[in-house]
Amino acid sequence: MDFEKVNEELISFLNHSPNAFFAVDNMCKTLLDAGLTRVYEGMPWKLEAGKGYFVTRNDSAVIAFRIPKKDYTGFQMMASHCDSPVFKIKSNAEITIDNQYVKLNVEKYGGMLCAPWLDRPLSVAGRIIIRTQEGIETRLVNVDRDLMIIPNLAIHMNRQVNDGYAFNAQVDMLPLFCEKGEEKDAFLKLIAHEAGCEVSDILDTDLFLYNRMPATMLGLNKEFIASGRLDDLQCAFASLQGFLQADPKDSVAVHCVFDNEEVGSGTKQGAASTFLKDTLHRINRSLGRTEDDYLMSIASSFLVSADNAHAVHPNHPEKTDPTNRPYMNKGIVIKYSANQKYTTDAVSGAIMRAVCEEASVPYQTFTNRSDMLGGSTLGNISQSQVALNTVDIGLPQLAMHSPYETAGSKDTAYLVEAARVLFSSSVEGTGDGNYKLKF
Ligand code: ZN
Repeated sequence: MDFEKVNEELISFLNHSPNAFFAVDNMCKTLLDAGLTRVYEGMPWKLEAGKGYFVTRNDSAVIAFRIPKKDYTGFQMMASHCDSPVFKIKSNAEITIDNQYVKLNVEKYGGMLCAPWLDRPLSVAGRIIIRTQEGIETRLVNVDRDLMIIPNLAIHMNRQVNDGYAFNAQVDMLPLFCEKGEEKDAFLKLIAHEAGCEVSDILDTDLFLYNRMPATMLGLNKEFIASGRLDDLQCAFASLQGFLQADPKDSVAVHCVFDNEEVGSGTKQGAASTFLKDTLHRINRSLGRTEDDYLMSIASSFLVSADNAHAVHPNHPEKTDPTNRPYMNKGIVIKYSANQKYTTDAVSGAIMRAVCEEASVPYQTFTNRSDMLGGSTLGNISQSQVALNTVDIGLPQLAMHSPYETAGSKDTAYLVEAARVLFSSSVEGTGDGNYKLKF
């Protein structure tokens, strides 16, 4: 495996994907380049066996699928998410201080580490909705330069800061945008200029801050990768690469990337939505299959919920479970939780272990310390719409939900390879609890 090459591609994807809208846009371009056909939820689908397609919802979630044959066994799926904790720009964003500075009013999206957002160049990206003759149109906007900063208070004005500080999102986290000038609506004028329209054309916006520090590889032998949004674009990238390299034979390969995992997945484009179920049903119907065929195919399907995991922290090794200790570059992490916060059970864990072994990639296990509550993922949330054998995995990383996270560069390549094997394989039910694994 060429670790460096895979991670250079990942770095390019990360640098060009400041938020979910751009991540999906970049994945769509890659899928089109690979010869897949775009279909839309609002139009009829005429699908053919032997071909690949993709569909988006809200421009911030995407499902791509490759159909090997009409009488396929099931669906081999990997789901990840493309949103990250971030600050969203509010409406009427400009706040003037002493008639000298303009700062922007922002609010939290998801649960982030606040401190690392301070004292670094930031910019803004997202989508704007503009008026057209016939209705409305979406445009993506990325102000691709260092634009703003959230300045810390000097230690002389906050002597106790190093003993722990409670960041107030309304007070501490507002970015400095510009000097106060004569101009009104300087922020919206900038956005309109970048989008090639007038301020009066803009009906509404979804705009977010992002960290300008580009992704990089570091460590003595470039064994680590550091970037914003590794959770979960590292998995989304690996899933897409594995999907494109796969050779689906008996099952439909399905690459899903959802939005809004960081805020509970409960939106129309989140994992709790009908997006996956609707798509699988339409594949089934479009090929002339019955509802029974659909249910049988779900019983012979497998879903990998791929969302990054916590590696053992070099300065806090005590925070990790005593016997399940994932390290960066030691392979794919299979996550377990007795309360099923992670979907993995003995059956799905066993299937994932078999996939990794077939792919010749290492794997490790994660559980939270028994006295610590962990996060959850999209795996169990999506079960309420499409219930099937599901495993929760991730790549081990540090500083989750910082705007600059660290992960292992070898692990990217391991997941690409495991995804390739998964998307090429089939899991055929031969009685509940018994499965024929075809690689
Ligand atoms: Zn995540």
